[in-house]
Amino acid sequence: MNEWLWSYEGYDAADEGQRESMCTLGNGYVATRGALAETSAGDVHYPGTYLAGVFNRMTTEVAGRPVVNESIVNAPNWLVLRLRIDGGDWITPDTSEVLDHNLETDLRRATLTRRTRVRDAQGRTLSITERRFISLADAHVLALETTFVAEDFSGPIEIQSAIDGTVENLNVERYKSLDTDHLEHVRSEAVDDETVLLEVRTNDSQVSIAEAARTKLWLNETAITPKRIVETTHRWAAQTVALDVGEGDEVRIEKIVAIYTSRDNGIYSAPEAAARKAIGAGTFDELLVPHMTAWKHSWNRSRITLTGDLGHTARILNLHIFHVLATVSRNTADLDVGVPARGLHGEAYRGHIFWDELYIFPFLTLRVPELTRSLLRYRSRRLEFARQAARDAGYAGAMYPWQSGSDGREETQVVHLNPASGRWLPDASHLQRHVNAAIVFNIWQYWQATADREFMRFWGAEMVLEIARFWASTTTYNHVLDRYEIKGVMGPDEFHEGYVDGDLPGLDNNAYTNVMAVWCLCRALDVLDKLPGNRRTELVEKLRLSNDEIDMWGDISRKMRLVFHADGVLSQFEGYEDLEELDWDGYREKYGNIGRLDRILEAEGDSPNRYKLAKQADTVMLLQMLSSDELEELWDRLGYEFDPEMIPKTVNYYEQRTSHGSTLSTMVHAWLHSKIDRPKSWAMFRAALESDINDVQGGTTREGIRWQARLI
Ligand code: BGC
Repeated sequence: MNEWLWSYEGYDAADEGQRESMCTLGNGYVATRGALAETSAGDVHYPGTYLAGVFNRMTTEVAGRPVVNESIVNAPNWLVLRLRIDGGDWITPDTSEVLDHNLETDLRRATLTRRTRVRDAQGRTLSITERRFISLADAHVLALETTFVAEDFSGPIEIQSAIDGTVENLNVERYKSLDTDHLEHVRSEAVDDETVLLEVRTNDSQVSIAEAARTKLWLNETAITPKRIVETTHRWAAQTVALDVGEGDEVRIEKIVAIYTSRDNGIYSAPEAAARKAIGAGTFDELLVPHMTAWKHSWNRSRITLTGDLGHTARILNLHIFHVLATVSRNTADLDVGVPARGLHGEAYRGHIFWDELYIFPFLTLRVPELTRSLLRYRSRRLEFARQAARDAGYAGAMYPWQSGSDGREETQVVHLNPASGRWLPDASHLQRHVNAAIVFNIWQYWQATADREFMRFWGAEMVLEIARFWASTTTYNHVLDRYEIKGVMGPDEFHEGYVDGDLPGLDNNAYTNVMAVWCLCRALDVLDKLPGNRRTELVEKLRLSNDEIDMWGDISRKMRLVFHADGVLSQFEGYEDLEELDWDGYREKYGNIGRLDRILEAEGDSPNRYKLAKQADTVMLLQMLSSDELEELWDRLGYEFDPEMIPKTVNYYEQRTSHGSTLSTMVHAWLHSKIDRPKSWAMFRAALESDINDVQGGTTREGIRWQARLI
């Protein structure tokens, strides 16, 4: 088995959406789904293109109230390249009989090749071979080459090469009732005989996106210059040529596209830069060479080699690493962006940045630390917004949002749709304040890996201190217990939103949150200790940090409350032990896949808040993030007795009550089991790796990929 080839045999309309996600190509600046170039968005195909950091906001009336959503924008579709015979319909696998079809990503070279043979209703056979890549060597270059062979017919054909700006954000079924049209027309024009340009603008954030496409043709390997009909209309720029082909003739078309936005550095304007690049670019094969070299260098840094006869697993591992590298590369380092939860592969989670970076950064930090630094700068540039958010919520310091987009305001929806019941429900997931601990954790790991003093002095320390200040301000002091508490939050387990009889959403003393808050306070004290004297003084003055406040951090970090069950298991939150046990077997039997128990229970008129269950690793995340030595140290500091037996006991307890409704979970549990039960760990690791390719969440892979490479 070739570990570097990811392929699909045969055409299956039902599977197209998923294949498109898995065959997405990207270079950390832009990514395009692996949709066939002749198709357009609909129930079967979805040729999305996403530019890192290009967002737009729209307001839609939902259930009688305005709901604002910021989304990563689906940019004009640069792929369109299609053929029709004798004035018939454009040929797609859906309109003709498919004789052969094969789609293959070369993971090492980051090229997508597709070979299809179709026969139309008149019995004419056409073969289509397509190659494409998105240059890693030049972030703005995208290249497509299609070869059509008229196998057994002759006569007139037309070939169209276009840029389609009429696209909308329609990838996620659940979001379709929200406004989806983010683009407005700016210009569509012919730049020279071979090149057309389309410029659109996002209709609220006003980001200009320009794409220029240069198309060249060859007939039986001789360059031809047929007359082109140019169509430069509203949100559409196309060239169509008419040819007469004989039986066996081969027409090769090369489409080189340049893409720029008004957010790019070093340009006069996006349309000018795009037109210039497309006209001046080399041929497909010339451009391919530096692209392959850049990928070779990327793989040299990122490859993980498995020993033993593990071809299948190695291939999936390569696939996941490939998708990490397609989403964040050295091209990303120049941008002001974070890592979107579903990559640049689809529209799920609207391209927002969550705590998921926590799972991705360890992989990057050890291989391309410059990249982590740049991604952390995305957070530091949004410190002001985080300070404002803390103030608005009645806290001190900086409170980063659960979901972050362009400017760092809270982008979490206030309502979400349960597809199982069709009901729009209040969404309290913004209470996942633990995202702030993830940011400190990422900064700390980066600092440990690189000792990058400049980063720490200029940006890192300020974020760590402001987040520590935030955590301190979230605590309340319980006089009876002489302990500090954090109330009204949500842990990583999103199934528990609050207490069944509570008036407000949120839970008290979530173990993960409390321990990580203590950990952050300790790191803030360390930072103050380690900063050079002058920078420490500057920061203390700038942030007006008093000795009393610093002493208070020390006090909280010694007296935070943790709640334990009667048998010593660390409680996910206060009151968890009193919840009811769920009939896991009964639910499994009734529903099969019970990953999304929240939706199932809500549709039944019940609530997950009543039960001892979890969507994903919550309490046990602590065991994944902190070593047992670190945990013991923290327990000592807090005055709790540390029993190493607590670790397997806690893992087993929560494992029996976790539905793994987030794919983040299986990977965490796999990691934990590596210390307890290695065969089980390996089985879970493999199951997690396969979750996208098997689409375990029933249809969501078509909305983007998941970060299964996150714990490697
Ligand atoms: C998970 C979160 C995660 C988000 C984005 C949710 O399903 O519960 O932990 O941050 O997906 O990946």
